[in-house]
Amino acid sequence: MQLTPETLKGESMQLTPGTLKGESMQLTPGSDSTGSLLVVATPIGNLEDITLRALRALREADLIAAEDTRQTMRLLNHFEIRKSLVSCHDMNEREKTESLVRQMKEGKRLVLVSDAGTPGISDPGEILIRETIAAGIPVTMAPGPAAAIMAVVLSGLPTGRFCFEGFLPSARKDRIRHLETLKPETRTLVLYESPHRLRAVLADMLEVLGNRRCALARELTKMHEEVVRDTLASLVSLYEERDPRGEYVIVLAGAEAEALRESKREDWLKMPVRDHVDLYLATGCDRMEAMKKAAKDRGLSKRDVYNEIVSTEMSE
Ligand code: SAM
Repeated sequence: MQLTPETLKGESMQLTPGTLKGESMQLTPGSDSTGSLLVVATPIGNLEDITLRALRALREADLIAAEDTRQTMRLLNHFEIRKSLVSCHDMNEREKTESLVRQMKEGKRLVLVSDAGTPGISDPGEILIRETIAAGIPVTMAPGPAAAIMAVVLSGLPTGRFCFEGFLPSARKDRIRHLETLKPETRTLVLYESPHRLRAVLADMLEVLGNRRCALARELTKMHEEVVRDTLASLVSLYEERDPRGEYVIVLAGAEAEALRESKREDWLKMPVRDHVDLYLATGCDRMEAMKKAAKDRGLSKRDVYNEIVSTEMSE
């Protein structure tokens, strides 16, 4: 199907093999009189990324809950859709949820959108979705753009397993503490960041996580889209020279298994051998097993561990 003004207006929209054969299809499960929630992803920059299903959902909604009604109104105007909007943002989602759930119970088809991308992903939606599910009301989604997914795909880093971390805490102390918890994470890390904190965040990542490979994905789907792939140290230097501009996703290589073993080994070496063995004894291991495990952690042979314990005991 071509994206023409006609299809954008939804006149001859066909959604599934069933509808391709001309059968009509409901956007959400349930009967026509049942209320429902349809979570709709919207473009993160390029309006051509709106899906046909998103347009139909917006057009057929009884009510649209939007993070910022002015922003969504611009989107609706662009596609010549006239609908009533209700605001549902971080500050009021909890209190709005009750009345929205009630309206869905009364039969309203509610659509949820955020300013850009996928609702619920570092955007409002989680509470409304949870409460709608709890009320037994059908919930489904018209999927579409999400900056994290696009960035991880374009990063060139391993995509098989990744870990979405959203925004890091803004207070430096909390940020450092959080980064410390991410040190052993071997999956690719994906984070959102605002331009004014980018430099500080990159510097903190370098300090806590070391000089890993990193991709900075900026202004995705927009005119100035750019993905810079380098090491964290080089990116820190790059951004000493240029000002961060636009929206960023940071994609960072996970911890290398070997580096992780080394850092763990360093931690173990700070502990006396006998305490290390005692730790395993306390978990229920027998003496031989405990010495074997401690030897492995420390990169030693079992005999070395045994000798070390004997010499400690003799010197006491
Ligand atoms: N729900 C959105 C999604 O699905 O991607 C994310 C909303 S979150 C409030 C906004 C953050 O997403 C930005 O600070 C930036 O980190 C990232 N982001 C959104 N649009 C982007 C774009 N076009 N290019 C790069 N990053 C983007």
